[in-house]
Amino acid sequence: MDLFEYQARDIFAKHDVPVLAGEVIETPEAAREVTERLGGRAVVKAQVKVGGRGKAGGVKLASDPDDAVAKAGSILGMDIKGHTVHKVMLAQTADIAEEYYASFLLDRTNRTFLAMASVEGGVDIEEVAATKPEALAKIPVDAVDGVTEAKAREIAEAAKFPAEVVDQVVAALQKLWDVFVKEDALLVEVNPLVKTGDGKIVALDGKVSLDANAEFRQPDHAALEDKAAADPLEAAAKAKNLNYVKLEGQVGIIGNGAGLVMSTLDVVAYAGEKHSGVKPANFLDIGGGASAEVMANGLEIILGDPDVRSVFVNVFGGITSCDAVANGIVQALELLKSKGEDVNKPLVVRLDGNNAELGRQILNDAAHPLVQQVDTMDGAADKAAELAAAK
Ligand code: GDP
Ligand code: MN
Repeated sequence: MDLFEYQARDIFAKHDVPVLAGEVIETPEAAREVTERLGGRAVVKAQVKVGGRGKAGGVKLASDPDDAVAKAGSILGMDIKGHTVHKVMLAQTADIAEEYYASFLLDRTNRTFLAMASVEGGVDIEEVAATKPEALAKIPVDAVDGVTEAKAREIAEAAKFPAEVVDQVVAALQKLWDVFVKEDALLVEVNPLVKTGDGKIVALDGKVSLDANAEFRQPDHAALEDKAAADPLEAAAKAKNLNYVKLEGQVGIIGNGAGLVMSTLDVVAYAGEKHSGVKPANFLDIGGGASAEVMANGLEIILGDPDVRSVFVNVFGGITSCDAVANGIVQALELLKSKGEDVNKPLVVRLDGNNAELGRQILNDAAHPLVQQVDTMDGAADKAAELAAAK
């Protein structure tokens, strides 16, 4: 989960990384009071989860409270690289003498963590990496040892930080590593890390990405989620504990087991090539023990997607036998009907594995007008794609 800059600022402050005071607002008028609190001047910064706000006109200096209201008004509602600005942060202005760069990230390729630092910050760091790679120091960080004072010094020296700021940079790097570890982050980036006119090191812009797999031990992180931006179907699925990912296509997919669902996406995409290029509409793994309720929840989410034109239920019975799944499908359709849901999209069901014969018999006996069975995965994928293309 990527955070907004103001959330990164709050997390930095929590771990004693030097930052400037800042507050987030959603209406221009609110800028007046905040600017007064900040001492009469402020930098007004668009809060969007994309870089390059400065160049796009999303970072402006306001010289007094009235000016802050005007600048907030001009930035709120602005479109920055396809992201609409709904919030702005007002922050204390900094007297910038120099702009540096520092980050920690998970380096998957080398199976380690990586520190990156440069005295050429402020600008696009990808640009620095491409045109002047020697100006970007890259130092691996051992997961167990972490960023000790010695490691922080190694990073600061590799990046050639000026002697007068090295001690402060070393301290800031150790605090940023605290953020990285204690918050279970995958990325902590500061650009620019500035030296102010009076020689202080301050993190002026932060980018933090949190590891969603650590949610279970980070109870505070749920509150950081941008609920307004979340896909409503994904949010509904999450609330029901379903592993659901919305995709761009037209064939709804339900399967049991992540591996089976992933290969189902492949066969549907392949079959779709012969049927007007239809594609899978989602990933949905209902896991083992696919009860009627779980099946109903899954079908409800998928049928609620206006892009879906047909649904492919692909189940390989293992511990959960196919007759239980078949009963689940029949009951789920009844459940949805009784809830007044408009179930009107064709379902192609493929049952195989444990008790497949019995499961197929149950669906045949139920003779639901929207359900048809195909015994093979390829055949069922083809049928589902054909139905989606015909709609
Ligand atoms: P980004 O463009 O999205 O990375 O946004 P930043 O927060 O990094 O801001 C871009 C640039 O605006 C920085 O590199 C600074 O040069 C400038 N900037 C940001 N805050 C201040 C401030 O308080 N005072 C001054 N003078 N410049 C600032
Ligand atoms: Mn920046």
